[in-house]
Amino acid sequence: MRVDIHAHFFTFSLFLTGAAEANLRERLVRDTHMSSAAAKTVVTLLKAIIETGVGQSGLWQFLKKIGVVDHFAEQFVTTGCLPSISAVADAFFDGMSAGQVARGYVPWPPGVGETAEELVATALMMDVVDASSSQADLDKFAVQYRDTVLQAIRYPGRVLPFVAFNPLRGELALKTVEYALDAGECVGVKLYPSLGYDANEPAIDRLLAICAAYDAPIIMHCNDGGFCGPNELDPDKCFPGNWGAAVENYDVRIDFAHFGEQNRSGAYNTVWRDNICTLMAAQPEKCFTDLSYQSHMVKQTSHSAAYANWLRGVMAEPVGDNVLFGTDFFMSCMETDVLSYWSAMAAVLGPDFDRVSQGNAMRFLGFEPPSAPGADDALPRRDSSLERHVLYLRGKKKGNPAFASGAQPASWIRNLL
Ligand SMILES: [Zn+2]
Repeated sequence: MRVDIHAHFFTFSLFLTGAAEANLRERLVRDTHMSSAAAKTVVTLLKAIIETGVGQSGLWQFLKKIGVVDHFAEQFVTTGCLPSISAVADAFFDGMSAGQVARGYVPWPPGVGETAEELVATALMMDVVDASSSQADLDKFAVQYRDTVLQAIRYPGRVLPFVAFNPLRGELALKTVEYALDAGECVGVKLYPSLGYDANEPAIDRLLAICAAYDAPIIMHCNDGGFCGPNELDPDKCFPGNWGAAVENYDVRIDFAHFGEQNRSGAYNTVWRDNICTLMAAQPEKCFTDLSYQSHMVKQTSHSAAYANWLRGVMAEPVGDNVLFGTDFFMSCMETDVLSYWSAMAAVLGPDFDRVSQGNAMRFLGFEPPSAPGADDALPRRDSSLERHVLYLRGKKKGNPAFASGAQPASWIRNLL
């Protein structure tokens, strides 16, 4: 089994709430220094492209013709514009199999295809709303939730849903998480603090208690880019040290995603990533990180050689057991394709790539150790969210026409269903 611990399967139309649009406009102003009027026009055009259907849009054809849309932007936009979450999940698995191996498998070595291994990916939901979001925007998440869980049914044991938690939604956010874990529909929880919430809020204490009770892992957006609330300082709400302190009192596992990458100011800053290493050393049972969206490793920038050396040093330390592999599909498709991302990371990490994409990821997800490294016989821990998920899928096996319609159940779950 190979695990992509950080992937997204939502569509733009389910994701683009008024709050998300406002954030996109602000990011354009901040990152490209365009006027707010120009940013508004760009977002309006983008919405028009999404609503028309990207393939048919004359505007899209025009942007391609004049070279505004490059190959990667095209992959990103066409994926996000697919008509359903099922279509995005299928595109993910078809892209990973590269037409060489069966759907649900990844050619191994990545992109070569001499052998194939089972592919397991998380499906991290996003919930970009705030206290003033309209009811129509608030309702979008219910559809995203339902259709993401559907992928777990279509790809049993291969797609592991993580429910988004956004306390700006109020009490319903906690209820949704509790339902998702109790029913076994989701395996873990996704946090995105830069949308506008802090580690020390009372709702976070309650969330951590729920995750501890269900033995459910948490994946937290942890770079200073991505989506954020209207406050200029909101990206700082992802500062890992605050969350490391918050989990001290709870028996939970949290993945600080993107290894705390900080380059919002244009210069690479190592404060967050060093802080994550300190947390992983101090709380090795609780604190993890992932290597998603480190696209400079594919592009080989001036920064990437030094980064690769540093990363190999991290893997040689005990904290190397707490590093996970993820791609950030299909966000990372803005800059690279996902198979190239696997290949680049595998080349940099050598034998350590097995640790980040196999044993480390399985421990984080809630598996017992397998009989041998890489063996597909690991069982979910007793009373874990993963075990509840198995029971949920067992209930779907008979009589649900969607069951295994994407790919056959993964071998780790086959005998459990
Ligand atoms: Zn992500």
